[in-house]
Amino acid sequence: MKFDILTIFPHILDSYLNESILGRALKNKLIKIKAHDLRDVTRDKHKTVDDKPYGGGPGMVMMIEPIYKTLKKILGTDFPPARSSQATARVAPTRRSKKTKIILLDPRGKQFDQDKALEFSKLDQLIFICGRYEGIDARIDQFIDEKISIGPYILSGGELGSAVIIESVARLLPGVLGNNKSLTEETFSLSYNKQLTSSQKDKGKISIEYDQYTRPEVFEYKQGLKKIKLKVPQILLSGNHAEIKKWRKEKSNS
Ligand code: SAH
Repeated sequence: MKFDILTIFPHILDSYLNESILGRALKNKLIKIKAHDLRDVTRDKHKTVDDKPYGGGPGMVMMIEPIYKTLKKILGTDFPPARSSQATARVAPTRRSKKTKIILLDPRGKQFDQDKALEFSKLDQLIFICGRYEGIDARIDQFIDEKISIGPYILSGGELGSAVIIESVARLLPGVLGNNKSLTEETFSLSYNKQLTSSQKDKGKISIEYDQYTRPEVFEYKQGLKKIKLKVPQILLSGNHAEIKKWRKEKSNS
């Protein structure tokens, strides 16, 4: 799967993306990540990518042209998409390959969640547009498929959001995690959600993975003169798999 990031800080995610699971996935060519510097397609000496907002107000707004040109560079003749009959929609319905999506990181967008990650993991390519300053000229809506927020708070740019999405999507791709079973036994995972009754789902209850423990069996520390012992629940040491399974089920969704 290919991820493209349109940004004015093309190196800002380098160290994060090249470590650990994503780093290994890149090395094994399971994913490709390319950051595109929006300043590369500017024509003026100062490589301008932003300007003052029409109508006044604080801050600067990112211009549409560098983004448009970079999308064209990436997608070639597939961009801009042919307009469908729903041309009046604010977000352009696309006739590009259905396996590519252009995502605008935007705090006003739909909040990203595990279902979205799963949906995105079926695609071949995700293209992220990262805003900075006060955001992007609203005419960008003509060229995107979706607006995604990573949470109800304001960041200074879309780059961290694109890293969050890349990481959660990439780990769902075949071969990216060492042990694929980790995926089915996780918080929010489908097999967990299937265990919820519909009334739990209606109440907005989501699946939470059970508590996990590892060595040592007893962890000791001192609080003043008092010695405190933190023990692993006895049931996990019992070797009784049926009981362990039952205990874990109780611990999930609690
Ligand atoms: N003035 C805007 C915020 C701009 S923040 C407003 O009030 O809505 C600058 C950029 O950071 C945005 O264009 C977006 O790309 C990114 N960003 C900020 N918060 C985000 C969030 N919660 N999710 C995704 N992207 C975010």
